[in-house]
Order: sequence, then structure tokens, then C-alpha cells
Amino acid sequence: MKYRAILLFGAPGAGKGTQGKILGEIPNFVHFSSGDAFRGLRVDSTLGRVFVEYASKGLLVPDEPTIELWEQSVHGLIANGRFNPEADTLLLDGIPRNANQARIMHGLIEVKAIFNLFCPVLDKLVVRLQRRALKENRLDDANVEVIRQRLETYKRETRAVLDCFPEELIHQVDSTQEPLYVLLDILKVIARIPKPAISDGATTYTEALSLARNDT
Ligand code: ADP
Repeated sequence: MKYRAILLFGAPGAGKGTQGKILGEIPNFVHFSSGDAFRGLRVDSTLGRVFVEYASKGLLVPDEPTIELWEQSVHGLIANGRFNPEADTLLLDGIPRNANQARIMHGLIEVKAIFNLFCPVLDKLVVRLQRRALKENRLDDANVEVIRQRLETYKRETRAVLDCFPEELIHQVDSTQEPLYVLLDILKVIARIPKPAISDGATTYTEALSLARNDT
């Protein structure tokens, strides 16, 4: 079974994380940020070390361990009951991040919509990222050279992800708007996506209790 997914797409600093966190509060939507997953690793673990090596230069971590980390994280979310693949939709933020990742994930996710948080002037993102560096403890946001490299990586590798999906799935959202209006643009589209046809099983705690009572 493929996981239902919505992709939050855009250059570093476009606001994918901000929107992902808010949207992930809506019942049946689960936010997954690959950057957060990497930052959650112990820096003395093998993959943690690989992450620091690449991220500190503004480069992408190799595809294989990245997809593996994503799959393991999703399995973890399922195991602890935070993601129910039958009823929920994953909000993928930061993954897939190049054409190869999109190809690998093709068999694993069913993409319902892609939000391209575009920014006409990439330089605006540099300012945003520097501001973020002060608020969050992010090595890769602190250095202008690393930021420029990340924007280059985005242009060189990540933009191509959009070509891997049918145009009708892609929704352009102006990321220079205030977060509230970006959110509004996204919600208007999400509200029109048909809900999954879920099985008769309980999807909430209350339903589970009522089913259990009927069973006895
Ligand atoms: P941003 O979108 O602001 O650049 P993220 O938090 O998404 O930042 O990612 C931070 C870093 O983590 C990236 O620069 C890259 O090194 C690594 N990373 C995150 N997601 C991926 C991915 N899907 N593939 C490879 N590397 C990734």
C-alpha cells in the first residue's frame, strides 16, 4: 500500500517547515521533515556524522541513507500510532529532494498535491535564513557561503523534482506572502482533495471504545 502524501516544496527558507508544522496539527495530517529527522540523529552515530559532513557544506546527504531514514521514521510513526496509512496523509517537507529520490519514492507514496512555495527573488531567502539562524540553532543557516551553496543545490538538483510529477498536481504558492496567506492558499487546495475511503475500523480513541463496547 502506498502512503498518501502531499509535498511541501520550495527553496531553503521558503517556509516549508512553518507551513508543515501548522498543517500537521490538522487531524489526519502528519508532518514529516527530513531536515528535522537528520537533526534529530545523534551526532556521534554513523548517519549523524554523514549528515553533519554534507549539511555543513550545503550539500544533500546521499540518497540511499536518506530514503532509509525516511522509511524507518515512517515505520516508527506507524508503530507509535501517530500515522495511520489508511486514514492519514503525510506532509512531506524536504523529501524527495532530487529526481533520483522522487524515482525511488514513486513506488512508496501516492502524491495528492504538491505545493511549490516559490520565491521570485532568491536573495530574499538569504535574509530569512540568516534571521532563522539566530532563532534556531542551525549551523547551515549561520554562514552566508553555506546558504548560497544550499540555494545552488536547490537550483541544480531539487527543482528537477517538479518535472517528475504531472503538472496538474503542482500548485504555485507565493512564499513571499505572510505565513497566514500562504496557509490560506494551501488550505483552499487541500480542502478539495477527496478524503481516503477508510475501512470500518476505529480511527479515534472514542470510536475504538465504542467498538469495544459493542463487541462485548
Ligand atoms: P532547508 O530546506 O532550510 O535547506 P532542511 O532542514 O530541509 O533545510 O535540510 C537541511 C539539510 O539536511 C540539507 O541541506 C541537507 O544536507 C539535508 N537534507 C534534508 N533533506 C534531505 C534530503 N531529502 N536529501 C538529502 N539531504 C537532505
